[in-house]
Amino acid sequence: MGILTGCGNGTWNYLNSYAPTHPGSLYNWYYNPALAPVAVDVVALFKMSMNYAVADSSSCGSYSTNASWSYKGTTAAGAGNINGINVIGWYDIESLGVMTYIHDGGVMLEADIRFDTGTAWHATASLPVASGKYDFLSVASHEILHAYGLGHTLNDPDNVMYNFFGAGAGTDRRTKRLGDLYGMHFLN
Ligand SMILES: [Zn+2]
Repeated sequence: MGILTGCGNGTWNYLNSYAPTHPGSLYNWYYNPALAPVAVDVVALFKMSMNYAVADSSSCGSYSTNASWSYKGTTAAGAGNINGINVIGWYDIESLGVMTYIHDGGVMLEADIRFDTGTAWHATASLPVASGKYDFLSVASHEILHAYGLGHTLNDPDNVMYNFFGAGAGTDRRTKRLGDLYGMHFLN
């Protein structure tokens, strides 16, 4: 059976790597709702993205990963601050999303994810992505995979870890393609 369209050709060149990787299994996440710009259940969407990120398989294949996650509730702690917990939050940033981390040697000690308050988000699970909107689930999946240790690739625009992201119908990249699957398996 051939590789599905959009799954990639099996070769990837990593543009950059996030030297530290996740500790091998569990990420505990907290959510800081301050500055959240949309009246939607961000936590529910983020949980969906977590499941996409840690899944052993997708329509592109099956590769085991040790990654797992747990949601620990809301917090007033800042995302992007050193505070000993992994926080998801909102800020006015210059991109759609950003992952920042603290590490000791090769081990990630803390990872935070911030989403942009000024972006026109497609903040729903339904598809297609609305015109001019950016798919929150896709950006969340991308930032979560950064937190586990994946860098970017330019080899396949359908990979979650492709370097560029657009708006509107057909731009969603929620579930892992071959490069994403290989990457997470490699981190085991
Ligand atoms: Zn990125």
